[in-house]
Amino acid sequence: MEAKTKDLWVFIETNEDGSAKNVGLELLNPGKTLAGKQGGSLVAVIIGNNVASAIDAASEHGADKVIVVEGEEYAKYTTDAYTNALVALVEKYGPKSMMIGSTNNGRDLGPRVSCRLGTGLTADCTSLDYSDEKDIILWTRPAFGGNLMATIICPDHHPEIGTIRPGVFKKNPVGGNAEVIREDIHVAADQIRTQVLEIINEMGAEKVDLEGAEIIVSGGRGVGSAEGFDTLRALANELGATIGASRAAVDAGWMPHAHQVGQTGKTVSPKLYIACGISGAIQHLAGIGGADCVVAINKDPEAPIFDRADYGVVGNLHDVLPVLLEEIKKARA
Ligand SMILES: Cc1cc2nc3c(=O)[nH]c(=O)nc-3n(C[C@H](O)[C@H](O)[C@H](O)COP(=O)(O)OP(=O)(O)OC[C@H]3O[C@@H](n4cnc5c(N)ncnc54)[C@H](O)[C@@H]3O)c2cc1C
Repeated sequence: MEAKTKDLWVFIETNEDGSAKNVGLELLNPGKTLAGKQGGSLVAVIIGNNVASAIDAASEHGADKVIVVEGEEYAKYTTDAYTNALVALVEKYGPKSMMIGSTNNGRDLGPRVSCRLGTGLTADCTSLDYSDEKDIILWTRPAFGGNLMATIICPDHHPEIGTIRPGVFKKNPVGGNAEVIREDIHVAADQIRTQVLEIINEMGAEKVDLEGAEIIVSGGRGVGSAEGFDTLRALANELGATIGASRAAVDAGWMPHAHQVGQTGKTVSPKLYIACGISGAIQHLAGIGGADCVVAINKDPEAPIFDRADYGVVGNLHDVLPVLLEEIKKARA
């Protein structure tokens, strides 16, 4: 379809309590810049139930307008209800481009909506840019097993859509007073083909907020065993850090997948990332591009992680970490 406006939309996914998920608020940050380059407004789109706090958050994080669809049928995410509402909104307003967080639901919703609208979608982006010459967004994502970064464009169809990984961008609360537009869109119950009966968190009640963590202590194959992670936990407890892991450590069964950092894990942007026994494969580095400071502990001085690290310690992590922990405790005392 033809774009009717120059606006850029950001889909703000909500939690079960109606609050905004971080990723949508993060996307409003680059969204502001890109909307400016497009010459349009930044519009947050919220579909859910009892979403007053999400509306406030979207306004606070820089949206010029917030389009809201509220109703009982949106209390829990379903492909049918959400696709129906989002497609109806796009058809009415005709935005030029749209960003959706690469969460489980976002990865479900984005492709369904793009297919319904007959437009393109770049999935799982890790960076965004703008071509003034072509007047389109440049969507970049890892390709070929993460061995290269591919920049994908959608020049002939609208809206240009991309899903973007949580944690790639930082939230930027700028304050604001967005115009709120309410749309009354309802779906007949028999048109929703799936019913969410219960949401069961992986690993019992454990929730791993790596994307929001300020400090991460992360372990790889070099940790050696599941018990080896106890050394990392001791340091993490002292620092108030979250535990991360490489895919090798996850594949070995030492840590649950929820802790995996990297291309097929989570993208993180902590202030401090301590990589212990991690070699620094490109697929792992793809997840830590937003880290402010990387400290690497590895017994191999040639390990590629040292090319990314701001500080490096060559040594056995099981010797280095206890010393580091003692020094931190002493400094704090
Ligand atoms: C499509 C695809 C997607 C992928 N996605 C991801 C992903 O999301 N995340 C991810 O991490 N990987 C991912 N990988 C895997 C990635 O290519 C690497 O295989 C993986 O990151 C290696 O993990 P590692 O660094 O823990 O292990 P290794 O590469 O085996 O490195 C272990 C390191 O530990 C060091 N070491 C050993 N013992 C000690 C010790 N006692 N003290 C200190 N250092 C020690 C060694 O010197 C070595 O550098 C992906 C691969 C593919 C093909």
